[in-house]
Amino acid sequence: SLHQAIPVDQIRYDERGLVPTIVQDYLDGTVLMMAWMNQESLQKTLETGETWFWSRSRSQLWHKGETSGHLQKVRSLRYDCDSDCLLVTVEQIGDIACHTGERSCFHQVDGTKAAPPADTLSQVFDVICERRDNPTETSYTCKLFAGGDNKILKKIGEEAAEVVMACKDNDKDAIASEVADLFYHTLVALAHHNVEVKDVYRKLQERRK
Ligand code: AMP
Ligand code: ZN
Ligand code: ZN
Ligand code: ZN
Repeated sequence: SLHQAIPVDQIRYDERGLVPTIVQDYLDGTVLMMAWMNQESLQKTLETGETWFWSRSRSQLWHKGETSGHLQKVRSLRYDCDSDCLLVTVEQIGDIACHTGERSCFHQVDGTKAAPPADTLSQVFDVICERRDNPTETSYTCKLFAGGDNKILKKIGEEAAEVVMACKDNDKDAIASEVADLFYHTLVALAHHNVEVKDVYRKLQERRK
């Protein structure tokens, strides 16, 4: 149980008894939403392993996902340096945290829609998928897709060999460059086969246990 994870009575709730809580995707670090907890909702979150908040508009405890089905399974819970803010990482059921149907509440940039920032591999993967779905003549990525598995897999083999050579040379800058090349071409292979980078992250997380 998560019970030991956090001292519920040592959190510094504000004058309304509330503590702001940031919810983050455990796989790619995307900030999904911010909501308020009180001591009771924090207690229920720890007991159930799913997020509970205090709804200020409805003045009641709120089990996230109770109507939408978009529950959040808690993976970790921590509090900040002066104990007045919580950070929860979750497995987001349905991959939708916002009541608008967007993945993250933080999908607005000066009035226009934009994906919230995630980790760098995910950002690169998004650009690669965008190229796959909207081909242009000049893009190297599009040329890889046009060449199919033959071209993509040959490049992965070459880049893997370059990683090996860079490591043999113990050339730190070259190792970083060649691993970047290998990551990039591997992401192209994922996109070509319609496998999400998050599916890879999930495998890595499963192996941690
Ligand atoms: P849910 O908890 O997902 O079943 O949604 C129930 C209600 O909670 C919605 O109709 C919204 O009013 C509210 N709600 C859900 N998700 C959010 C969110 N990320 N931020 C603010 N309000 C939300
Ligand atoms: Zn603080
Ligand atoms: Zn929202
Ligand atoms: Zn290379």
